Order: sequence, then structure tokens, then C-alpha cells
Amino acid sequence: MSVQGKVVIITGASSGIGEASAKLLAKNGAKVVIGARREARLKEITDQIIAGGGQAAYQVTDVTQPEQMQALVQLAKDRFGGLDVIFNNAGIMPSSPISALHINEWQAMIDINLKGVLNGIAAVMPIFTSQKHGQIITTSSVAGLKSFPGAGIYGATKFAVRNLMEVIRMESAQEGTNIRTVTLYPAAINTELLHTITDQKTRAGMDSLYNSVGISPAAVARVVNFAVDQPEDVNVNEFTIYPTKQA
Ligand code: NDP
Repeated sequence: MSVQGKVVIITGASSGIGEASAKLLAKNGAKVVIGARREARLKEITDQIIAGGGQAAYQVTDVTQPEQMQALVQLAKDRFGGLDVIFNNAGIMPSSPISALHINEWQAMIDINLKGVLNGIAAVMPIFTSQKHGQIITTSSVAGLKSFPGAGIYGATKFAVRNLMEVIRMESAQEGTNIRTVTLYPAAINTELLHTITDQKTRAGMDSLYNSVGISPAAVARVVNFAVDQPEDVNVNEFTIYPTKQA
């Protein structure tokens, strides 16, 4: 089974990597079910996909709310009759030095980047386990592979999801449930992510980096498409995606 015909949920699909992935997968025949908080953006993207001959549905979804994640899964089942893939992609990056004590932003990153991923996993696990088939793709970051000043809490959430994905892969192999996991480690990708940074010095540094080396989210979408396209007995489970110009 290739991308064609697969039912794929994507969170954080109202912009950036999620939007690009939804559009590419739908173009290649997937039935995409997209969620995020901004309804107007979700509707626009869904309308564009359908106008282009693809299949898509959307629902306003805050990943921090378990029942909203469950409702998104229910929409996939009701509209498209099942579920093959979840792409846990929603995230924020209000980076700052730990000494600045932006504690509310720490909480928000843990709630969205970590608990949001757990809510996605919990919502799909009963289906994937019983049908003995399913793929969980999660957007970590290069900040989930190595440490960067300013990315203490952001990186902690991204290191955490790396561990989650690998443990699910190993447990699924032991339990014989055929659940495949894919972890993405993007570097500088030009999206709306930097808008979530409130610390002015951190924002200036990141703007300068992204303006000089950043690449299109379409680069990540192509990797997602490649992973979804793999046959059932192949688990391509980790990808770093760097701009060629980024050190
Ligand atoms: P964007 O800001 O463009 O996209 C983030 C998406 O997450 C938006 O669709 C946003 O939609 C959604 N989102 C935020 N909070 C919530 C929430 N509580 N519930 C549901 N959706 C939410 O940035 P990217 O596309 O870059 O980010 C996608 C992922 O990629 C993130 O996990 C990010 O950490 C990761 N990443 C990005 C990199 C980059 O350089 N851009 C590098 C490494 C990783 P809305 O506001 O409508 O809810």
C-alpha cells in the first residue's frame, strides 16, 4: 500500500510543515484529515485540496485537549472509513534562556510539543493495535538530537518525543502490532514557527539564521511522503533535514 488511498491525520496543519505535507500527500492520493486551532486557515487549505481534485477534511483541534484529538480521529473514521497514519506535527518554539524564566512558555511547550503528541498517540493506539497496522510520524527537531542555548525546554520536549517514538517502535515489534514510527529532525525550515518567540534577542538571532539559510517546508513534506509511501514491512524511522547551507 503506497500513499494512494491512505487516511492520514495531520496536526499543526494550518501552516508550515503540516500544511505542505497535507497538500503533497493529498496530491499523491492520500485522504488527509487536518487539525489545528485556526479554523479559517484549515478551511482554506481543505478547499484548495478539494478544488485540486484531492480528498480532505478538517476539524478545529487543540492538541492539548485529549477529547479534541479523539474527535479528530473519529472524523477520519466517519469520513474516510479508517485510519492508517497520524502525523503529530503541531508545535511551538518560544525559545529563551532558562535564566529569563518565561515559565508560562515552558508550560505551553510541554503541553503542546509533548503532551499534545501523547494525546495523539493515545487517540490512535487502540485502532492501530487492534488492526495491527498504523504509522506514527512525529516532528521532533535537530534540537531533539543536540543541545542549543535558548532551546532548553523546547529541546527537552523534542528529546522526549524522540524517546517515545523509539520505545513505541520497539514495543510494537515485541507485541507484533506492526506499528511503525517515524521521527523527523528538521533544522531551519522557513515557516511561522519563529513568530512564537517572544524573547527579542533570541528572535533576532533566529531571524538572522533563518533568513540566511532557511529552506521551504516542502523539503520536509517530501520526506513525510517518502515515509508514508514505504511498504508495510519497512520502517524508515529517523530523518534529519538540514538546509545545505546550515552548519
Ligand atoms: P508553524 O508555526 O508554521 O506551524 C505550527 C503548527 O502547529 C501550526 O499549524 C499551529 O496552528 C499548530 N499548533 C500550535 N499549537 C497548537 C495546538 N495547541 N493545537 C493544535 N495545533 C497547534 O511552524 P512549523 O511548520 O515549523 O512547525 C511544525 C513542527 O515542526 C513543530 O513541531 C516544530 O517544533 C517543528 N520544527 C520546525 C522547525 C523549523 O525550523 N520550522 C525545525 C524543527 C522542528 P494553530 O496556531 O492554528 O493551532
